Amino acid sequence: MCGILGIFGPDPVAPDILNGLVAIQHRGQDAAGIATMDSRVHIQKRFGLVRDAFAEVDVARLSGGIGIGHVRYPTVGLGDESDAQPLFVNSPYGIAMAHNGNVTNFRHLRQQLLEDEYRQINTECDVEVILNVFAEGLARNTDLPFPEACYEAGRLVYNRVKGSYSVVAAVHGHGLVALRDPFGIKPCTYGVAGDSHIIASESCALDALGAKIVRDLRPGEVFVIDIDGKLWSRDVVPPNHHPCIFEFVYFARPDSLIDDISVYKTRLRLGEHIADLVRERGLDPDVVIPVPDSSRPAAQAVAESLGVKLREGLLKNRYIGRTFIMPRQSERRKSVRVKLSPLRLEIEGKRVLIVDDSIVRGTTMRELIQMVRDAGATKVYVVSSCPPIRHPCVYGIDMSVKGEFVAADRSEAEIGELLGADALIYARQDGLVDAAMRGNPNIHHFCKACMDGIYPTGDVTAETLDDIESERLKSHKQMEAAD
Ligand code: SF4
Repeated sequence: MCGILGIFGPDPVAPDILNGLVAIQHRGQDAAGIATMDSRVHIQKRFGLVRDAFAEVDVARLSGGIGIGHVRYPTVGLGDESDAQPLFVNSPYGIAMAHNGNVTNFRHLRQQLLEDEYRQINTECDVEVILNVFAEGLARNTDLPFPEACYEAGRLVYNRVKGSYSVVAAVHGHGLVALRDPFGIKPCTYGVAGDSHIIASESCALDALGAKIVRDLRPGEVFVIDIDGKLWSRDVVPPNHHPCIFEFVYFARPDSLIDDISVYKTRLRLGEHIADLVRERGLDPDVVIPVPDSSRPAAQAVAESLGVKLREGLLKNRYIGRTFIMPRQSERRKSVRVKLSPLRLEIEGKRVLIVDDSIVRGTTMRELIQMVRDAGATKVYVVSSCPPIRHPCVYGIDMSVKGEFVAADRSEAEIGELLGADALIYARQDGLVDAAMRGNPNIHHFCKACMDGIYPTGDVTAETLDDIESERLKSHKQMEAAD
């Protein structure tokens, strides 16, 4: 999972790109990059958080009124600096590109581009194949007006590149382009601030820049802002919209709107659904405690629905990154107790209901349950706003490999026992979909492949899953060895 941003404006865009990237920092903390264009192309990419990666002098050097930015969370591999985005090709025009997602036919396309089409592919980053296909599409159509050439290039990308991807590209001397794959799995939204046009992974970046949200990009649309600042758009392939449901549970910021659905309100509705399940089970907690931060709205709704106190019984050290987002398993394990500490006052002698957004490997939850018991809880009940995760995500979230999922081949009761909980409840898939869909009834399908194993793009075979699993296992081993 990554975050993308593109800005076209009358003034130098780098300062706004920097601030916008900070607003979507939660989508990737491993590396950050910015490319801007004036008469030349300026690119800077570094490891680390946005604020650490760019000094004031760097921002001044990144001149120009067209630019794109990226925050990276590496899904496969060690995450070399050369794999950081944006990536750039010289021809035609000079194109810088950044994406959020994962190309499922990356290996196949890479080989085709290298061996049959004689294009240079220099990294292990899947945006490079999108960039090369797009460049090829533009090169074939240089006789057309720029927006028309982009439509053809976008159509070529949608037809050849499988998987999930939202893309921003700056084309030297021509403008800014955005693509959202025909399944619209990854978010991508557009807004304006004065004469500036902004495209971002999440609307929270638009808010941070004082921009007005205009609309989300449509799946299969090619969106162009030409060099004169004029907007062009065309739906070049039919959409089959399946936004990622996990964005609403965990990944996105609560103040974001994705496809017109409020992430915050979805989490509140999810809390109401969970409260029904807690009642059905006959649990009687004295206190509801959220695992900060993403589960707070759901926990609040659980507490309100049950008529039980909500308390901040787990305090978060705000200087530690999100555990899920840390690539190395050992880092995750070690960081739990450093990241969270129990507030004994709110726990001792009480039946505690912990609300978490998801349980993937169970590493964090096991530690947490023990921590809460050690702080004197008489019972520890656990609810997960996300239904059991049993299948790998092939669309850009490195949830782990199948064998590492705590829910892979266990029942709810077995997982509860393994984690050491007195009771464990997972939200139901239909409850989750209902919570999101009530925000926008026009969206009829969501990707929930990690829960039900149904991959909406239809191209995910047993072989694809095996490939992804073995690549992830390999990179996990490399990461552990590098630890
Ligand atoms: S598989 Fe899960 S995490 Fe991946 S895109 Fe689909 S819903 Fe999102």
